[in-house]
Amino acid sequence: MKLTVLGASGGFPSPGGATSGYLLSYDDRHILIDCGSGVLANLFRFIRLDQLDAIILTHLHYDHISDMQVLKYAIDLSRKFGVERPAIPVIAPASPENIVASLQSDGDLIIGQINPGSALSMYGASVRFYAMEHPVETYGLSVEKDGKKLALTADSVPCPNLQALLQGADLALMDAGSIERLRKPRMMHMTAAECATLANASQVKTLLLTHLLPLIEPGEVLAEARQIRPQTELATPLVVYDI
Ligand SMILES: [Zn+2]
Ligand SMILES: [Zn+2]
Repeated sequence: MKLTVLGASGGFPSPGGATSGYLLSYDDRHILIDCGSGVLANLFRFIRLDQLDAIILTHLHYDHISDMQVLKYAIDLSRKFGVERPAIPVIAPASPENIVASLQSDGDLIIGQINPGSALSMYGASVRFYAMEHPVETYGLSVEKDGKKLALTADSVPCPNLQALLQGADLALMDAGSIERLRKPRMMHMTAAECATLANASQVKTLLLTHLLPLIEPGEVLAEARQIRPQTELATPLVVYDI
């Protein structure tokens, strides 16, 4: 499997950057995981619209879905220019319902609900969803194929499901949307230190920190994690990671 980071900003994009978006590719299949602000611009550096097989949305916060509305224009305009493609399956949480409804698109997108806990076979890979702790219904996911495991936490604070999600992952992308210096009583994201600690406890092989808030210096995020896990890296847009 290969994972291409299309956007690693959290909340809003850094200058020239993009919010959450990852392209998972294997066996000539291409699955887009999250479709935030600026993700399509980077997606089309790697594949054409007609090569996109499916979309997974971890949750329906706009920094993870805002480019879905522009994707509808891309599909519609491309059709008018002779590019036909089958409807794209979109796997997403069932709530908030008004935002699910906004994703509907006259048959160009087929919206399916995430079933937590059960394994879903996607083009020969096993995808498993884990409920996370975040203000809206949110799922982390693991993808296993040929003995390799990818884990994405989506947005979450530390929660019981993270251990199973991360356990033994060859590559883990974790929400490091905060740092200890900015800790508040109620958090929506993990700190870099929490990510590093959880990755160590779960025998993660490669940890990439993502969902980086542009208001925090990336070097401070990385340094905090490296105090606990020296080999930690930041997820870098446009880099292709082998799994
Ligand atoms: Zn987010
Ligand atoms: Zn969120």
